[in-house]
Amino acid sequence: MNGIVFDIRRFSIHDGDGIRSSVYLKGCPLRCQWCQNPEGQDGRPTLWHFPSKCIECGDCVAACPRGALSSRDKAAAPKGPKPDAGGFIRIDRARCDECGACVEACPTASLGFVGRPMSVEEVLDEVLADAVFYDVSGGGLTLSGGDPVAQPDFSLALLRAAKAKGLTTAIESCLYLSTAKLLEFLPVTDLFLADLKAVDPVLHNKGTGFDNALILRNLWELADAGARMKVRLPLIPGHTATRENVEAVAAFVRSLRGDIELELLNFNPLARDKYRIAGLTYALDGVSTRFSEEEMRRFRSWAGLS
Ligand code: SF4
Ligand code: SF4
Repeated sequence: MNGIVFDIRRFSIHDGDGIRSSVYLKGCPLRCQWCQNPEGQDGRPTLWHFPSKCIECGDCVAACPRGALSSRDKAAAPKGPKPDAGGFIRIDRARCDECGACVEACPTASLGFVGRPMSVEEVLDEVLADAVFYDVSGGGLTLSGGDPVAQPDFSLALLRAAKAKGLTTAIESCLYLSTAKLLEFLPVTDLFLADLKAVDPVLHNKGTGFDNALILRNLWELADAGARMKVRLPLIPGHTATRENVEAVAAFVRSLRGDIELELLNFNPLARDKYRIAGLTYALDGVSTRFSEEEMRRFRSWAGLS
């Protein structure tokens, strides 16, 4: 069985117990306005521009049969450092049919497709290269993305194979999939890292494009089934980072089961450059700073964590 994988990061220490390898799978059922990995949202391999390799030759623009690429006007550009981390090429995704002609034409591999088909065995071979670190640290495999529930059968097969090799397993997920399918993850998942953005359905819909009734029900189902879980709330300025939302999420998590930890994730503005380079709209373009330590302390106190 093949899945579409867009990254495998080794030596991760924030996505579960011990030292882990995090496998990033393409596709996500939600469309969060603040997504940190927009290249992972679409389930298919996606054309992407890597500006650090670009020599600004323009060959890709000339090669595109659909007029989907344009380049920054070098003559009009200000002197000094490149204005947007070297984003010389713009991709008009409405025109692009992902034919690959620009990738062929690029002499420096500055354009490429993010995401490639990999079998369960291929992924596991890469992950098992660090087996010695998992043994000494209690680590293992974490599936992330995108969201592993967007490729549920591949994720299940991979988790099953990892368990058979003695690895601990975790998934990072919004839990937006049918409850029956989610419960298939129980026997092969040691830890669920569940993203919960909001309890209020209107707020959730505004930030992610989707209702949260299924997510809340799935959190209840996992808690009732005794799953080991940690709930993560991303603090997004103007969206989830309000006293009302923090208190509501914390109360919901406490109501699930007494032993479920809530983690507050500080806002990370660095995703902005990814959107700009890829020609995608970033809804939080004007927000450029993380929350201060003092602000994080206030959020934690609202959540009853300090
Ligand atoms: S993949 Fe094809 S259509 Fe898309 S930008 Fe490249 S050449 Fe143009
Ligand atoms: S992406 Fe490649 S082909 Fe296009 S301008 Fe940069 S180096 Fe040239």
